[in-house]
Amino acid sequence: MTDKLSNRINNLPVSATLAMAAKARKLKENGVDIIGLSLGEPDFNTPDFIKKAAIQAIDDNYNSYTPVDGYGELKKSICNKFKRDNGLDYESNQVVVSTGAKQSIANAIQVLINPGDDVLLVAPYWVSYSAIVTLAEGNPIEIRSDISSDFKITPLQLENAITRRTKLVIINSPNNPSGSVYTEKEYLGLAKVLEKYPEIYILSDEIYEHINYGVPHFSFAKIPSMFDRTITVNGVAKAFAMTGWRIGYLGAPYWIAKACTKMQGQITSGANCIAQRATIAALEAPVSEIQYMIDEFKERRKLIIDLLNEIEGIKLNEPKGAFYVFPDVSSFFGKTIKGKKINNASEFAIFLLEEAHVATVTGEAFGSPNNIRISYAASKEKIKKAISRIKKAIKD
Ligand code: GLU
Repeated sequence: MTDKLSNRINNLPVSATLAMAAKARKLKENGVDIIGLSLGEPDFNTPDFIKKAAIQAIDDNYNSYTPVDGYGELKKSICNKFKRDNGLDYESNQVVVSTGAKQSIANAIQVLINPGDDVLLVAPYWVSYSAIVTLAEGNPIEIRSDISSDFKITPLQLENAITRRTKLVIINSPNNPSGSVYTEKEYLGLAKVLEKYPEIYILSDEIYEHINYGVPHFSFAKIPSMFDRTITVNGVAKAFAMTGWRIGYLGAPYWIAKACTKMQGQITSGANCIAQRATIAALEAPVSEIQYMIDEFKERRKLIIDLLNEIEGIKLNEPKGAFYVFPDVSSFFGKTIKGKKINNASEFAIFLLEEAHVATVTGEAFGSPNNIRISYAASKEKIKKAISRIKKAIKD
């Protein structure tokens, strides 16, 4: 019956991160002892002060539709957060609250991209960028980077990728999946190129802002010449262990924010009212409230890097943020292990799932066919067990 469906949906790839998580969940339900390191999801509970704010909101009868672009109070908190953490001066009417940063990204792309427009993606990039661009009938154009440049691009690479059709560049620091963090200087270099092309917009996905191990976070919109052309996307899912609460937001030039509100008003309306109230508490708290999670991720990062470095054939960079490692596993391509021929990263990820019972995600979905992504947003015990299983599966 798929021929009855629209070309739009038939041509849309399934989200590789969610697909792998669903596969792992199913195997688990069938009694297989799977260690899920596929999904980028903190294993912490949402902090109590945020939960309390949500309970209070229920008791206070927050049950009605919210304004499409979010409660005024929440938008004020977001403006304060942008100012406090990023040095950005957004007014409330430049902010739109959505059902997760994913929707913020989808809104921005839907309102900016016409059929045939090029959108530059810095590979490796988060799986859904290209699918969302394709849905808007734009062309996702990859700018490749690899482990040798710490998965970052140079100004020259950016300039070489720009054509008359380029409408938008999507940047993401700290990066999912590589964990790379652009310095202020590196972003200034990219901005210098973009200054020559005033018709190009920039979407800066900063959802991993607080999951950062030392390189200071720098918001692209902080560069004065870029502020009026940049859409800054963020949310509470990762830093506040609130993935399921589904609250994301963007700050943008007023006309883009207004268009995003119009789009959202026809598709989903305002985000969940209780989650919005809880988000006010999250954003008004000092960042030190969530430092214990970042400290723990930092320890896990060291653990997983040390363990993976013991495995021959795995090449790794040191991620500076987010909670993923993105090893190059191309040395295994063409080899037969346990009677199974491994031709590419997807087959390697399937091999790990079947033989080691560890769920990861193929780098192909991120535009990096030599790599796999492993999330370390899991307990140290799980990480140790998973990597020891991987080691064994590869060796035997
Ligand atoms: N962003 C997370 C990830 O990359 C969550 C899953 C998704 O929405 O892709 O794993």
